[in-house]
Amino acid sequence: MLHSESPLFRTMDIAQAARKIKEIVPKDITILAATKARAVAEIEKAINAGITDIGENYVQEAETKYPLLKGKARLHLIGHLQKNKAKLAVDLFDTIQTIGSLELATEVNRRAKNAGKVILVLIEINSGKEQNKDGIHPEEVLGLAKGIAAMPNLLLRGLMTMAPYSPDPENARPFFRKTKQLFDQLKSLNLPNTAIDTLSMGMSDTYRIAIEEGATMVRIGSGIFGERKII
Ligand SMILES: *Cc1c(COP(=O)(O)O)cnc(C)c1O
Repeated sequence: MLHSESPLFRTMDIAQAARKIKEIVPKDITILAATKARAVAEIEKAINAGITDIGENYVQEAETKYPLLKGKARLHLIGHLQKNKAKLAVDLFDTIQTIGSLELATEVNRRAKNAGKVILVLIEINSGKEQNKDGIHPEEVLGLAKGIAAMPNLLLRGLMTMAPYSPDPENARPFFRKTKQLFDQLKSLNLPNTAIDTLSMGMSDTYRIAIEEGATMVRIGSGIFGERKII
């Protein structure tokens, strides 16, 4: 396996690992580098190797790092967003992948309107219906999508999910499959003021399975940057 645990990836530097993943992943799938706890200099190495999209988990961490990266890559929020950070998130990110409620969508739309911006958003699905996990349950997705479609300063692009953690990546497959079904349903609704083209799922250990199940974007952290540092 060519994920971060494999001896091959371990001996690579960041640029080599980024190029290797770009070789493996089909060209029409976007590779997002998950950059939590990574220094700006490390992130720049990945960008220089051809990574076009980067994602942070924490708004405050992005606040210190992103001014140095602005214009060099598309910037995504892939971690939980608290309502009281919506204004800052609107200032920092092009895309917010973690919209999980109408309340949060409403607040981000309000802040985006004040800033004169349109923010790209994904709905985060709690595909495993896990307790204490962010995201909306699968049954509620289409209702939330209709709500977002009516918000002029949000542009809904699709769905994001994190499958429940398991040491066996194959266990993620049914959750990816379920999310792909929802994505297809969402697309077929043809809601006005949406552009449904992004299905963000799969990480270093599961991206191959996610791609087999229809992901259009995979989020790779340790597979590019090496073993995750303590955060
Ligand atoms: C950290 C993270 C990733 C990447 O995880 P790796 O296992 O390091 O590839 C992807 N998505 C989210 C939401 C993350 O927090």
